[in-house]
Amino acid sequence: MATQSVTVVGAGFAGVEAAWALAERGFPVKLYEMRPATTTPAHTTGFFAELVCSNSLKSKSPTSPAGQLKAEMEALGSVVLRTAYENEVPGGQALAVDRNLFGASITEKLRNHPLIDVIDTEWTPQMFDGSPTIIASGPLSTDAISQWLANLTGRKHLYFYDAVSPTVDASSLDMDIVFAQSRYDKGEGNDYLNCPFERDSYTAFVEALISAERAPIRAFEAGGKRDAGQAELEELFVEKIKYFAGCTPIEAIAEGGLRSLAFGNFKPVGLTDPRTGKRPYAALQLRPENKEKTLYSLVACQNRLKFGEQKRVFQMVPGLEKAEFVRYGVIHRNTYLEAPRVLTADMELDDCPGVYVAGQLTGVEGYVESAAMGLLAGVSLASKLAGKDFTYPPRATAYGSLLSHLQDDTPREFAPMNINWGLFPENEKIKDKGVRREAKITAAQAAYAEWLGSLG
Ligand SMILES: Cc1cc2nc3c(=O)[nH]c(=O)nc-3n(C[C@H](O)[C@H](O)[C@H](O)COP(=O)(O)OP(=O)(O)OC[C@H]3O[C@@H](n4cnc5c(N)ncnc54)[C@H](O)[C@@H]3O)c2cc1C
Repeated sequence: MATQSVTVVGAGFAGVEAAWALAERGFPVKLYEMRPATTTPAHTTGFFAELVCSNSLKSKSPTSPAGQLKAEMEALGSVVLRTAYENEVPGGQALAVDRNLFGASITEKLRNHPLIDVIDTEWTPQMFDGSPTIIASGPLSTDAISQWLANLTGRKHLYFYDAVSPTVDASSLDMDIVFAQSRYDKGEGNDYLNCPFERDSYTAFVEALISAERAPIRAFEAGGKRDAGQAELEELFVEKIKYFAGCTPIEAIAEGGLRSLAFGNFKPVGLTDPRTGKRPYAALQLRPENKEKTLYSLVACQNRLKFGEQKRVFQMVPGLEKAEFVRYGVIHRNTYLEAPRVLTADMELDDCPGVYVAGQLTGVEGYVESAAMGLLAGVSLASKLAGKDFTYPPRATAYGSLLSHLQDDTPREFAPMNINWGLFPENEKIKDKGVRREAKITAAQAAYAEWLGSLG
């Protein structure tokens, strides 16, 4: 019986891992990559798995979330990590690579694999013939793919821009100040937490927000000319964000007048601060990001401040003085699906059997996370095609933590997430934060070892 071949679209971080995993397990792969003939607005080379920005693949420390994810990927034969270690440059705790050597080396490995047929062409949806296809075309997928996915999933489940508020680790909130209450006590179980401002703390916050340093806008994100100045791009960008993401960056709203946030994003109506028995001057609300309520996002705080500035400014909010940010706010061009609504547990499109999705398109964020999801897509599809049952890594693992983000249907603004402490299950009984984190890694290691054993 002929072995089923698989199409993989995109030789980015997810695509190379998926293709390699399938080929190493004996399945022929057609790997489509359109660069360099056709490129994206961010890529500049023809290398596979191009690092479009930083050259860091995050922490190597075995006791960090990214380190645990790496250990899990290595056990599955990650070609990205192997190549990264072969081309490592000094980066302290981080796995940093020489981007050109890394790119050249991984491209060569994939091109020379006897079971991988690289097709240097843009893949278009008309090419889908019903055979298993992994779409790993990334955050800057071509318009043809984006439109196709939008049609298959319903337009509202495909995002073209990230407009993300910062997210904090619940255990780092000051619960002597922060109080649980939904407006007018509506909603179940006081799902919202509130950070109450007084006039002075509010004024200081708004002033800091307006004057904070912003991340530069790239011309392609704003739809402007390459040589346009930042002021012009900012204007175009704010309009685009309003249209595509239905929001305005919080710093742009604050610029509208000192009280605009108190009447808008931070309006305190229906809230009573239990410490004073009164309505606060303004209130920043926090909404749970997962069922376990280990992560909270800052409601309506989408922004484009530099990350260091976000930490400085949002830690001025009462109750967030020691907040640990697991994800900073971003507003940028980014194509991704609302995974909990449109993907099965196998990362297959609910409404289009045979089409699998991998990488950033699924709703993870980062080189390593995208590679991780590509690798898992390849391993699970190989298992399925071999007629074996495949169970996914358990909840306690780093993989299980990422998957829980993609499958958690808690009502929220779904947005791509990197691996972080808050995604791992919390052991409430352990009070000390350091010990709690050690326990998370120990539990992940044990659960992963058992899962690997079960794969046979
Ligand atoms: C501007 C920008 C900067 C970023 N900076 C960082 C960073 O510093 N650190 C970090 O960890 N993450 C960063 N990310 C986030 C992200 O995780 C990376 O972009 C990561 O590369 C995503 O992996 P992927 O495999 O999903 O997509 P990609 O690595 O982008 O791979 C997708 C591939 O598909 C190809 N492709 C697309 N459409 C087609 C088609 N129709 N036919 C054939 N080929 C196609 C593309 O050419 C590309 O090679 C950044 C993202 C962006 C957009």
